[in-house]
Amino acid sequence: MDRRKFVRLGAVGVAAAVVKPSLAAENLSTEKSQKFVAITKPVMISTWNHGLEANKAGWEVLKKGGSSLDAVEAGARVTESDIKNRSVGIGGMPDRDGNVTLDACIMDWESRCGSVGYLEGIAHPISVARHIMDNTPHVMLVGLGAKKYALKNKFETIKTPLPEVKEEWKKWKKEQAELAKKPEINHENHDTIGLLAMDADGRISGACTTSGWAYKLPGRLGDSPIIGAGLFIDQEVGGAVATGLGESIIRIAGAHTVVELMRHGRSAQEACKEAVDRLISKHKDMTGLQCGFLAVDKFGNVGAYSVFNGFNFALRTNDKEELVDAKHDRSW
Ligand code: ASP
Repeated sequence: MDRRKFVRLGAVGVAAAVVKPSLAAENLSTEKSQKFVAITKPVMISTWNHGLEANKAGWEVLKKGGSSLDAVEAGARVTESDIKNRSVGIGGMPDRDGNVTLDACIMDWESRCGSVGYLEGIAHPISVARHIMDNTPHVMLVGLGAKKYALKNKFETIKTPLPEVKEEWKKWKKEQAELAKKPEINHENHDTIGLLAMDADGRISGACTTSGWAYKLPGRLGDSPIIGAGLFIDQEVGGAVATGLGESIIRIAGAHTVVELMRHGRSAQEACKEAVDRLISKHKDMTGLQCGFLAVDKFGNVGAYSVFNGFNFALRTNDKEELVDAKHDRSW
């Protein structure tokens, strides 16, 4: 038995052992979630308005009975290909040296996960993350190693930054040379796409992909490639994704925190709010502290909450396709 197979069999064994959620957790979740609309399966939610297009691609998979894993990957690829999007994929903003480095991760209902960080010149980081998950004994590859892996496996290459993004960067460099010691924090340059899907069989998966914080220090990784920070799924409970200032999300292991709060009886909405409260409590300085969480519980109820106003998410179900404003703690 190879190591990968062993790890997988191990995971299946664990899943089988926990397949029946604890009675207490189940009762609490059911009770609390009655306050929220119970959504019929399948369901897909994705951060920000670019989530609408991503959901369309994911829905093509889900409506044919496909898996939530294929759905979130298909959705993420749409945003990664969008040259108008300045925070994800090919059109992403560079770091302060002018290089576009991409982060992504993916996780499924068996707690399998894959991740790439600091990946340059590859069109679909989300698919590289999935390939790592499916074909190696590892979870995460970064930098040159991730690039080497992607090239060896014939992933499509791209040239970044786009010419217009390079022009913007040059302008920024000229104007903001003084900010060189302290990267500018601006809620407008945080726009990761995070996606969660529950398929017709009730299986939950999630993905997130980003170019990270615009004009970040070279080498910086945010929450988005980190399982437990930017994304976490536990089929026994639900899943969560994060967007916003990655450094603050990492501090509270954001997505994992949301899932654990649901495990302890909070609804998806209450869990997102409580995670935001905790995140705020860890920061004396609220400057630029925009973060948002999205969650789905094992019943298909969804929740969202952000620190400041302005966060929205795209919701897709059998009878809904809409952009929903998230509740928030405070206004700009
Ligand atoms: N969370 C991402 C990061 O910090 C940014 C974003 O959400 O746009 O890299």
